[in-house]
Amino acid sequence: MIILDGKGLSAKLKDELKCEMNSYKKTPILAVITIGNNDASKIYVNNKKKACEEVGMSFLHFRFKEEDKEEKIIKKIKELNKDENINGIILQLPIPDKFDKYKIINTIDSSKDVDGLTIESQGKLFNNVDTLIPCTPKGIMEIFKYYKIDLESKHVVIIGRSNLVSKPLYIECLKKNATVTVCHSKTKDLSIYTKQADILIVAVGKKYLIDKTMVKKGCIIIDVGISREDKKIYGDVNPNVESVCSMLTPVPGGVGPMTVAMLLRNTFDAYKKQNGVVSISELNVIK
Ligand code: NAD
Repeated sequence: MIILDGKGLSAKLKDELKCEMNSYKKTPILAVITIGNNDASKIYVNNKKKACEEVGMSFLHFRFKEEDKEEKIIKKIKELNKDENINGIILQLPIPDKFDKYKIINTIDSSKDVDGLTIESQGKLFNNVDTLIPCTPKGIMEIFKYYKIDLESKHVVIIGRSNLVSKPLYIECLKKNATVTVCHSKTKDLSIYTKQADILIVAVGKKYLIDKTMVKKGCIIIDVGISREDKKIYGDVNPNVESVCSMLTPVPGGVGPMTVAMLLRNTFDAYKKQNGVVSISELNVIK
């Protein structure tokens, strides 16, 4: 059984990114917006900040309070959209219910939408138009690429139907000529589908939802889920699958670090595009 080492791969990709960024005089800037005081978000934002520091990218954190007016946040995003020094903007989710999440996200200019969550970015993705792809699906596709996992004609079963992870993954897997099945909270008898999967991707957030009785021998499993219990992190997949599957992403250390690495990659790609660099040979344009 092979462990798909997202932690190691993300370190390698960050090193490559750091080298590439060294060819540029100006430092890319990622702006992160938080609203309220979500404990998990604090950890995620801190991880993103640390990752930016590791590669030499600037990180700006704009904190809003739960009592703040939505217009205040929208106004800040519009300012960041106009600011030529800002290359990527993300809204850290979840945000308090009183805010219109979609309205705030869709204020982000799609050229700076490094989480790939605006309607414009997702519409482009759906239509095979070049765009910024959400970081988790992008990171999973990088794992497939690095470990030479060919998706063509494979049956990929995705559990979950979110805009952040599962729907963009569905599109990305289709592009690679996989046959894709999407399951969700209303799917009757998940195991009917999971047992058919050559590649099983689980993005639910329920500790050990999937166990070894639900997967076929030799299956490749990507565990996206994160649940916290007594300060420990668990995935959606019971480690007992190790006796059945051929490859598995660990939690932690699998998809999570890849997501952060792809956020950096998206921010740098956005920076290059905003500065008119379309290929490496044009590096000197904005030196
Ligand atoms: P979500 O939290 O928005 O929704 C969960 C999905 O699971 C829904 O689509 C729902 O239909 C499905 N679901 C719920 N119960 C189910 C069940 N019993 N059987 C089958 N499907 C069920 O989805 P999300 O934002 O994609 O997040 C999913 C999980 O992935 C969460 O645990 C989240 O923390 C984690 N996540 C991890 C990373 C990472 O980098 N590792 C990134 C994003 C999300």
